[in-house]
Amino acid sequence: MNKELPHNHGGKSIQVIEQMPSLDVVEDVANVFKQLGDASRLRIFWFLCHCEECVTNIAAAMNMTSPAVSHHLRLLKSSNLIESHRHGKEMYYHATNTEIAQSLHHQIESLVKITCPDEK
Ligand SMILES: [Zn+2]
Repeated sequence: MNKELPHNHGGKSIQVIEQMPSLDVVEDVANVFKQLGDASRLRIFWFLCHCEECVTNIAAAMNMTSPAVSHHLRLLKSSNLIESHRHGKEMYYHATNTEIAQSLHHQIESLVKITCPDEK
């Protein structure tokens, strides 16, 4: 790409522009951030990074109603951050093993300054 900016202030802006990710790629990441842009949802996601649980237990752990938790689970699942498995009559939820889910798991812990329960 031979791109020029209207003003030339020196610096490496042109170089950075050449490596800028496309809108499509950024859109996927923005969607994931949007899903985690809600404190309750972020906490549910973090919880499910360590446990596999049913809606009833997640609701009890979060001090929320089951319908409210179900709503958050649907959104997290549509973003591929969590997955569900049926055991008997109940559905169990857990974070996916994707690069983005694992990276967010560790970023959350780093940002809120807590130790991962899996490392204790
Ligand atoms: Zn952790």
